[in-house]
Amino acid sequence: MGTLFYLFIPALFVWRDVYFFGMTNLSLYIHIPFCLQKCRYCDFYSVPGGDPLVISRYIDAIGREWGIYEDSGVLGNAAINTVYVGGGTPSALDLDMWGRLEEALFSRINKSTIREWSVECNPESFTIEKGRMYAKSGATRLTFGVQSLNARELSVCGRAHSAEKAIEALGDERLDGLFDSIGADIIYALPGQTADTLDNTLSAILSIPRVKHLSAYELTVADGTPFGRHKKMLPLPSEESAAEMYELIGNRCTERGMGQYEVSNYALAGFESIHNRAYWSHKPYIGLGASAHSYIHPKRWSNAAGIERYISAVSTGTLINNAVDFEETLTPLELSREIIFLGLRGIDGIDEDDFAARTGISFCPEGRKEILRGYVGSGLLKNSDKKWTPTPRGMLFADMMARELML
Ligand code: SF4
Repeated sequence: MGTLFYLFIPALFVWRDVYFFGMTNLSLYIHIPFCLQKCRYCDFYSVPGGDPLVISRYIDAIGREWGIYEDSGVLGNAAINTVYVGGGTPSALDLDMWGRLEEALFSRINKSTIREWSVECNPESFTIEKGRMYAKSGATRLTFGVQSLNARELSVCGRAHSAEKAIEALGDERLDGLFDSIGADIIYALPGQTADTLDNTLSAILSIPRVKHLSAYELTVADGTPFGRHKKMLPLPSEESAAEMYELIGNRCTERGMGQYEVSNYALAGFESIHNRAYWSHKPYIGLGASAHSYIHPKRWSNAAGIERYISAVSTGTLINNAVDFEETLTPLELSREIIFLGLRGIDGIDEDDFAARTGISFCPEGRKEILRGYVGSGLLKNSDKKWTPTPRGMLFADMMARELML
C-alpha cells in the first residue's frame, strides 16, 4: 500500500513517473457495481439493488473520470484496443441507463482501434433489447454469468436466475447477428456439486453452438462472505474431486473443439479474450468506476471502493484523501515475479527475451534452467527456442512452479 493518496490524473506528481507516452495499446475496463442481489460466495465490489438516482450519478461520474484522463493529456497516443464492461452486473442497467453511459463515455472514445468489446451479462437481467443496444454501442462479445445449471446449486449460491433462464439467454438465436462471440462463466467445486451435476451443466452449455468461450473458475471461499462465515458447514467437494472436475471441464471443452488458453479459460480458436490476455501479459489498462484497478507500468492503483466516495472524489477533481484505496510502484523484481506467476498460467507463456527487456533480469540463470528442464521432463512445460509455455496439465500446477521459480 502506497502512502500517496491522490485523485486520478490531476495529481501530476504521480504521473511524471508513469511511462504513458510510449504506449500504443490500452485496455479500458468499466465497472458497473450494481447487482439484483448479492450471491453468497461473492467477494467482488458490488451492491445489491440500486437506486436509479444513484446509478445515474454513478454513470455521470464515470464520464467525468474519463474526462479527467482526457483533459490531462496523459493518455498521449494511446489507442483503445479492448473494452470490457464488467461488474457487478452491467446488464442490471436498464436501457435508459445504458443510453446515459453511451452519452457520458462511449460516444467520447475513439472506437476505430477497438478490436474487442465485451459486456458481462446475467441471465435474470439480460434482454435482447439490451443486447441490441450493446451492439449499437460497439460491443462484439457477451459473456453470461451462468455459474451452474443445477437448480439446487444455483439456490445454494444465492443466484438470482434459474437454469431455464440461463439456457434461454444463451440459446437466443437473435444474438447471432449481433455479436462475434458468446461466452459462459461457470464455477466448479460448489457445495454439494458432483462430477455428474457439473457434467450436466457442461453438456447443456457446450451443446449450444453459439457458445464459443467458457470460463470455469474453482470456487474460492472468501472470508467475509456468507460462504466464508459458514465454511465449516458447507459440503465442499474434496481436493481430489475438485481436480477431477477440472479434468472433466478440460475433456468436455476438448471434445467441443475448445482449447485451454489459461488455467480457467477455454475457447474455440480465434475466440480467446484479447482483453484478458492483455491483463495477463501486463499490458496497460485503465479501469473506470468504484474499485476499478488500473496499471500503467510501473504504477498500479485502484479507485475508491465505495459508490459515494467514488462519485464525490471524481466530482471534486482535486487532490483529496481516500480517492484511491491502493497504489503501488512495481520494482523490476516484483514485475519479474508477476510475469512468472501469470505467464505459467496461460498459453502465452514466458519469452526469455521479452522477460529480460521488461525487467532487466534474466529468466534463465543456471540454477533456474535446471528446474525448468525438470518441468519439461515431467510434462508440465514445453520449451521451444527461448519460449517456455505450460502444458494443460502444467497450468494446474502453475502456482507450484511459480513458487519454485521465484527469484
Ligand atoms: S452477480 Fe456477480 S458481482 Fe453480483 S453479487 Fe453475484 S457474483 Fe457478485
